[in-house]
Amino acid sequence: MKYISTRGQAPELTFEEAMLTGLARDGGLYLPAEIPVMSQDEIAALAGLSYEEIAFRVMWPYVSESFAEDEFKAIITRAYEGFGHDARAPLKQLNENHFLLELFHGPTLAFKDFAMQLIGQLFQVALKRRGDRVTIVGATSGDTGSAAIEAFRGLDAVDVFILFPHGRVSEVQRRQMTTPADSNVHALAVDSDFDDCQAALKDMFNDFEFRDSVKLAGVNSINFARVLAQIVYYFTAAVSLGAPHRKVSFTVPTGNFGDIFAGYLAKRMGLPIDRLVVATNQNDILHRCLSGEGYFKGDTIPSISPSMDIQVSSNFERALYYAYGQDGGAVAQLMDELKNGGFNVSQGAMEALGEIFDSGRVSEEETLATINSTLAHSAELVCPHTAIGIKVAEDQRAADIPMITLATAHPAKFPAAVEKASDVHPPLPSRMSDLYERPERVTRIANDLGALEDHIRRHIAE
Ligand SMILES: *Cc1c(COP(=O)(O)O)cnc(C)c1O
Repeated sequence: MKYISTRGQAPELTFEEAMLTGLARDGGLYLPAEIPVMSQDEIAALAGLSYEEIAFRVMWPYVSESFAEDEFKAIITRAYEGFGHDARAPLKQLNENHFLLELFHGPTLAFKDFAMQLIGQLFQVALKRRGDRVTIVGATSGDTGSAAIEAFRGLDAVDVFILFPHGRVSEVQRRQMTTPADSNVHALAVDSDFDDCQAALKDMFNDFEFRDSVKLAGVNSINFARVLAQIVYYFTAAVSLGAPHRKVSFTVPTGNFGDIFAGYLAKRMGLPIDRLVVATNQNDILHRCLSGEGYFKGDTIPSISPSMDIQVSSNFERALYYAYGQDGGAVAQLMDELKNGGFNVSQGAMEALGEIFDSGRVSEEETLATINSTLAHSAELVCPHTAIGIKVAEDQRAADIPMITLATAHPAKFPAAVEKASDVHPPLPSRMSDLYERPERVTRIANDLGALEDHIRRHIAE
């Protein structure tokens, strides 16, 4: 399987090369040259298998030229053994035809663990084989940084440095980043805000001497390996509700469009998905776009579902690529227009998107009310992101097709909003209830490029 760029001008790469590269050189995002298709019989045969076995069968066609079969099976096993639930992604019923797919049983209690844990193991194996190592640097407002640290801790081909704004992440998020004791993990509390952390990261990538000398690598959500890992749970969920013999729909709390785009690929692979519903908070560029108003940036407004406070959804470029008939030139032109504020989507592309995607937007008040009503009617305490999905799903679901809403984080990750809505304090799962007792290890550092680069140079392993 070769990987091609959404903008059509970058060299074709193998899976391993695309994974280690991240962003394509023409500014585009990598996609498989052809989407593999599973037959009805192959999908039916997934029923009753373990999460790991389904993961292997779904992902194998994408990676088979980069890994040996046994090697890839061992990678999957290691990726998911730290999860706190044997089903990995268990399905719970909310009411007669609405289900919740719990994606928060990983080490940092959010769905990003599914992709990050896999990418950590994939990097380690690929780098060992090449006799190489990399330095991963990320900037985080909370969730991505902790997921990356948990994924790369203890791997000897990688050092991981995470920049977070000092005093501006929640205590759970900070402790998840500062308590891992592994020597290759480096949490940096920067004296600034998140935008400054992100700007510092960008400056490091643009400092080519530094970038090459420490072998800088990134693992943000445009990496195709992250999308790939997320396809799997669409299959496990649909099959347990009767696919391929019965259709299902999904509602996905959406920010960068990575999670829901994995659902799009699952459908193209042959899974009988009826509708994919994008659920947004007040940062609603995707809802406006899918409602026919064009793709125009607004200001990001902070919300109680902070992981969805995004105005430009980087993975939407991948959906546009298919909606525009795989025309890389057309996508490159749209992305140029986006630099000046936005673009209108052609009628043909709108029709293509409308064949599969619906959307809805949820206010802050509705989010709080949904946390409350879900607890009252289904005895489930949900996080604010999940509540947004539930609200949109209830408004839009068809009576005769099961709807599956993705529960993207554990309520204990967002205790303030959950308690405000429900008067219930969400407890941490018992396996991490000692989080508040574990010693913290963190370096407080000035928001200064020279100081940051110097610190990283001095702390990477030889
Ligand atoms: C990242 C995140 C999302 C958004 O997922 P995308 O793939 O960016 O659309 C939703 N909920 C939670 C809890 C997240 O951490």
